[in-house]
Amino acid sequence: MIKVNSVRALQQAVAEARNERKTIGFVPTMGALHNGHISLVERAKEESSFVVVSLFVNPTQFNNLSDLDSYPRDEQRDAELVMSAGCDLLFIPSVEEMYPEPDSRIFDFGTLNSVLEGEFRPGHFNGVGQVVSKLFDMVIPDRAYFGQKDFQQLAVIKRLVELCRYDIDIISCKTVREDDGLAMSSRNLLLTPEHRAVAPSIYKILSEVRSKSGTITVQEAKHFVIESINAIPLLDVEYFDIVDDKTLVSLESWSECDTPVGTVAVFAGDVRLIDNILFN
Ligand code: AMP
Repeated sequence: MIKVNSVRALQQAVAEARNERKTIGFVPTMGALHNGHISLVERAKEESSFVVVSLFVNPTQFNNLSDLDSYPRDEQRDAELVMSAGCDLLFIPSVEEMYPEPDSRIFDFGTLNSVLEGEFRPGHFNGVGQVVSKLFDMVIPDRAYFGQKDFQQLAVIKRLVELCRYDIDIISCKTVREDDGLAMSSRNLLLTPEHRAVAPSIYKILSEVRSKSGTITVQEAKHFVIESINAIPLLDVEYFDIVDDKTLVSLESWSECDTPVGTVAVFAGDVRLIDNILFN
C-alpha cells in the first residue's frame, strides 16, 4: 500500500494505476475506522483493481467546533486496518492541502439539504459536498462507496453526482452493526459505559416498529419510536421521521413510496448517534 499526503502524489499514483488499465474504487472516510468502513474497502476491492481510501476529518462539514475537536483520530491504526482490507493507496491530506483557500461553493441539494440532518446540522451537507467533490476531482474513480448508515448523505452524494455530472457509480453499502445491534460509528468510542449500555435500544426499537408496520399507521409508528426511545433513561431523541427513500419527504402513509425509511438522531449524553431502518 502506498501512503501519500499531497494531492500531487495522489494524482501521480492514480495516473500510474490508470496506465496499467486498472479500475479505481474509492472510499472516502474521516478515519477512526471500524468494520463498517472496512466493509466498504473490502467491497471496493472485490469490484475494482485499485482501491483508494482517503482519511480526512473535514472541518467544513462540522457545524459544531467541539464535535470537530473531539472527533477520534488514530492514523497509525487506520493505516494498518485499510492495508489488511486491500487498500492500494491511502490519502491522508492536511487541512491546508485540501483547502489552500476557503471553499465558498454552495451546492443546490434542494430539500435533501433542509430536512432531517439538514435541519439540525445547518451547512453540514454543503461541507460534505465541498470535500467529496474535491476528492472526486482528485481521484476521478470509477466507483465510490458509501454506507447506508448515513442514509441522507448517500442521497446528497447521488445528487452531487447529477449536479456536477460526474461519471462515477455510487455504490450503497449495508450498515454494519455490533453484535448487540448498535450501528458501528466512530462516535461510539466517545460513549460512556452507561450510554454504550443503552445505545443498542435504538436499533431494537427501530426493528420493533418495522415488525409492527403492517398493523399501525405511519403517525403511530413515529410516536412509538419517539416515545419508546425517550422512555429509556440517558437517551434523548432529536428527531425521528419516516420518509421517502429518494426525496426524503416525510410520509403521511405507508403507500406513498415503495421503500419508506425511518431515520433517527438520538443524543446519548453529549454524543449524537444516527441510525435508520428500511421498511421493505
Ligand atoms: P465517516 O468516516 O463517518 O465519514 O464514514 C465514511 C464512510 O463509511 C461513509 O460512507 C459512511 O456511511 C460509512 N460508514 C460509517 N459507518 C458505517 C457502518 N456502520 N456501516 C456501513 N458503512 C458505514
